[in-house]
Amino acid sequence: MTKPHIVVLGAGLGGAVAAFEIKQALGEAADVTVVSKGDTFHFVPSNPWVAVRWRARRDIEVPLAPVFKRRGVGFTPVGARRVHPQENRLELNDGSDLAYDYLVVATGPELAFDEIAGLGPHGGFTQSICHVDHAEAAAEAFERFVRDPGPIVVGAVQGASCFGPAYEFAMILDTELRRRKVRDRVPMTFVTSEPYVGHLGLDGVGDTKGLLESELRARHIKWIVNAKVASVEAGLMHVEEVGEDGATKAAHDLPFAYAMMLPAFRGVEAVRGLEGLTNPRGFVVVDKNQRNPAYPNVFALGVCVAIAPTGKTPVPVGVPKTGFMIESMVTAIAHNLRDLIAGKPASAEATWNAICLADFGDGGVAFVAQPQIPPRNVNWSASGKWVHLAKVGFEKYFIGKVRRGESEPFYEKLALDVMGVRKLKA
Ligand code: FAD
Repeated sequence: MTKPHIVVLGAGLGGAVAAFEIKQALGEAADVTVVSKGDTFHFVPSNPWVAVRWRARRDIEVPLAPVFKRRGVGFTPVGARRVHPQENRLELNDGSDLAYDYLVVATGPELAFDEIAGLGPHGGFTQSICHVDHAEAAAEAFERFVRDPGPIVVGAVQGASCFGPAYEFAMILDTELRRRKVRDRVPMTFVTSEPYVGHLGLDGVGDTKGLLESELRARHIKWIVNAKVASVEAGLMHVEEVGEDGATKAAHDLPFAYAMMLPAFRGVEAVRGLEGLTNPRGFVVVDKNQRNPAYPNVFALGVCVAIAPTGKTPVPVGVPKTGFMIESMVTAIAHNLRDLIAGKPASAEATWNAICLADFGDGGVAFVAQPQIPPRNVNWSASGKWVHLAKVGFEKYFIGKVRRGESEPFYEKLALDVMGVRKLKA
């Protein structure tokens, strides 16, 4: 009898760990293959540090082929051109086909820079920290900037869903500029589509509004909320500030010598536009068991999953998908695949709680949202120097886990214990 073949598409933070955990759960009961774009894992949350040279690229990379080989997981780095869910196969970029019995989509986001004229590092005028290649280019631009400083604009555009790294990067730049003794020559503005500072796509968590406003104030960073970036040209960002009714209430032309804006995300080309599999933005639709209702042998996890916004906001904002939440999706999928292959129903559900550490280099803000949509059972935030140390721990934990090919979903336990949230839960 041939074994079921499980294919994991994407080997980022979610996909790499999913392959280890699925293999661990199924052992010899199934073959597991990972299809990745490139042969290297990058730890995306460390990109803001790469952009100010607190980390080198090699510090946050892991070569994938040897780890998967050790764990008995098949691997191809050529990438997929298209998923064909009706035929249970992937069309790969080298022209070959790969058949599957079960597919786990973990492709992360496509970065929608093209939705705003002049946005992004590919022919635009703003830097990005979403990919390690971008973070390296941002670091070079930062070195040039420091030699001839001027205004900085940092933030997240309309439709963005990833706000934590925008705050992180603004504060990290502030910390680094003070270390380099040029902060006094740099007016800074934080521009965000959120309805208020600290909303984070989650309608705030604990007092993230108070904590982040106070950090921005203490660091002399001005802010504009309910902001839509109309366009960007060399050294100038055109921003519309919108009122509660959605009408433009002010227009700002912001000069900059250095800018980094988080773009909106959409689903990747390999799955976008597949009726039943993805929503109009290309994100994979899943039920509470991480399973696509139209194609129940397809599961999805991480940033590529469709999650509805927490509520209406004057400017559209999305819900973030963070490492902890992604790990819980991985565990649910591994259990469901094990049960399905054993002839049992798939019943495991991810917790989808948000735990996040926003590092500022010399401190930071942490929050726990359980569940992520309010009202919540746990709604906690705090700040302090310990957050920076915890973020370094998070980085070491995750990169170490990928290097070792470990499957233990330890982060949930660690995060809940370290933050004392178990006490709050009890
Ligand atoms: P990714 O890590 O982006 O991985 C997707 C992978 O799929 C990529 O390797 C990609 O190349 C591959 N892929 C795409 N298309 C194909 C294809 N057609 N064929 C094959 N492979 C394909 N979360 C936290 O919890 N804490 C943080 O501190 C944090 N910081 C962040 C900082 C930044 C700058 C960003 C952007 C996000 C951050 N996040 C953080 C959120 C989230 O944890 C990360 O975005 C995380 O990388 C998402 O994991 P993922 O597996 O869904 O996607």
